[in-house]
Amino acid sequence: MKVAIASGKGGTGKTTVAVNLALALEEVQLFDCDVEEPNCNLFLGFELEPLEAVTCLVPEIDPERCALCGNCASFCKFNALAALPNKILSFPSLCHGCGGCSFVCPAGAIDEKPRSIGLIEKNSSDSSLTFFRGVLNVGEAMATPVIRALQRHIDESRHAIIDSPPGTACPVLAVLGCADYCVLVTESTPFGFHDFLLALEAARIFQVPVGVVLNRDGLGDSRVEEFCRAEGIPILLRIPNDRMIARFYSEGVPFVKEMSGWKEKFKVMFEMIRAQACKNMGVS
Ligand code: SF4
Ligand code: SF4
Repeated sequence: MKVAIASGKGGTGKTTVAVNLALALEEVQLFDCDVEEPNCNLFLGFELEPLEAVTCLVPEIDPERCALCGNCASFCKFNALAALPNKILSFPSLCHGCGGCSFVCPAGAIDEKPRSIGLIEKNSSDSSLTFFRGVLNVGEAMATPVIRALQRHIDESRHAIIDSPPGTACPVLAVLGCADYCVLVTESTPFGFHDFLLALEAARIFQVPVGVVLNRDGLGDSRVEEFCRAEGIPILLRIPNDRMIARFYSEGVPFVKEMSGWKEKFKVMFEMIRAQACKNMGVS
């Protein structure tokens, strides 16, 4: 089973939930798909080894063969090519590697060359937790191919916890598209509620069953709770606005390791997830 941990915005405690859940379970895989800011290992402290360089195919134009027809630039919806009267300019960082420009080129003037956009890493030390993370190169905009490369490492015979990027853009949709269940981490504040609704809408596109973790419970109001009750969305776990939890977080320590009872609470949460996901898949 693949469980995505998502939130409509950053800073809601998504990574805390992903790491603590993974540490509470046995023999699971944790994937840090927040490739622009992969923070899980700040809490895990694993030695990491490079596993795979992620590349994107970008066009290289042969000026000798190019007839300056402009077909390639007109085709590119990402503005990665611009036709000038005497040459075609290319902006590789905007290229999505779709290959369309070389397809429409009548002169066979376009070659596709790999360009490095990121890296996949894995923990090298022995642990019951297998950890993978994707790291997008600095200044690079193309997060989705790195996430897809990470997803190819999922061992389907074991449970996978996937720390999703924040927001509701393409990289998040890439994670939700492969998930069997989505945990939405939110706070019950006006902004939290707004972002929660956006994330819920994204999960519903893929018809992924959803449950909620209320972080910093006790702050704000009851609007998330009332909404969930009305919509039949389970509150899987409440993490209180607790000084001890905040202190462990600021020290980079997963609180399931230090605070008694929390491992059990995360395990119970996982059982609720499993039951709901199985029901959704029609598995008993
Ligand atoms: S490969 Fe696709 S995205 Fe990249 S320049 Fe060509 S048409 Fe544009
Ligand atoms: S489509 Fe081919 S021939 Fe036309 S401008 Fe682009 S590279 Fe040149």
